[in-house]
Amino acid sequence: MKLSKRQESILEIVTNYGPITGERIAEMLSLTRATLRPDLAILTMSGLLEARPRVGYFHSGKSRYRVVAEKLNSVLVDSVKSVPIVVNEKSFVYDAVVTMFIEDVGTLFVVKEGGLLEGVVSRKDLLKITLGGHDLQKLPVNVVMTRMPNLVLTTPEETVWLAAKKIISHEVDALPVVRKLTLPDEQEGYEVVGRLSKTNITRLFVELGEGY
Ligand code: ADP
Repeated sequence: MKLSKRQESILEIVTNYGPITGERIAEMLSLTRATLRPDLAILTMSGLLEARPRVGYFHSGKSRYRVVAEKLNSVLVDSVKSVPIVVNEKSFVYDAVVTMFIEDVGTLFVVKEGGLLEGVVSRKDLLKITLGGHDLQKLPVNVVMTRMPNLVLTTPEETVWLAAKKIISHEVDALPVVRKLTLPDEQEGYEVVGRLSKTNITRLFVELGEGY
């Protein structure tokens, strides 16, 4: 988090003299209390300073990175996920390529009858199969997908930070956001309720940088 020169000075004063009132900080900086108000608001909202009536401002004891880390750990996958784009396991590679273009996504989730997640198809899975000289209109997509139980998954309740760690450590572009599902015939698995891609995480990163 980038602080202005004046905000840095306020932090230093509060660190050295806190708890200290807004008036006193203003005096020390030879400014008016009104001028300082937006800076004090930013410092308290960001969690670096705390304010108590009749006591004044004091340092929260958290470093800037600690504040950012806390924020990141409070954002859940549910609030940043996108709509999942799914294809049936019986559809063909050709249809998967068309769906990828129409939906403008890089990862498709493959589901079986009943909606249980079966696999993931990425751009390179499809590119690779086009090199083999197959008839793409007759080749089922489940031949090229990465399948359960080898899929890396996330849930709506997981923190975006943990999900992002999975994306990095498994070197994939997107994770299916899933919920456990038991079908009427007692088949157990996961239904896909969303898609978490690198784009979702980049968007969150941009929003955090803008100070939302
Ligand atoms: P690309 O193929 O465009 O580089 P990825 O890096 O996401 O895209 O995919 C690399 C490989 O990992 C592909 O074979 C793909 O099927 C597989 N894959 C993609 N997403 C997942 C996931 N969430 N879990 C397991 N494997 C995945």
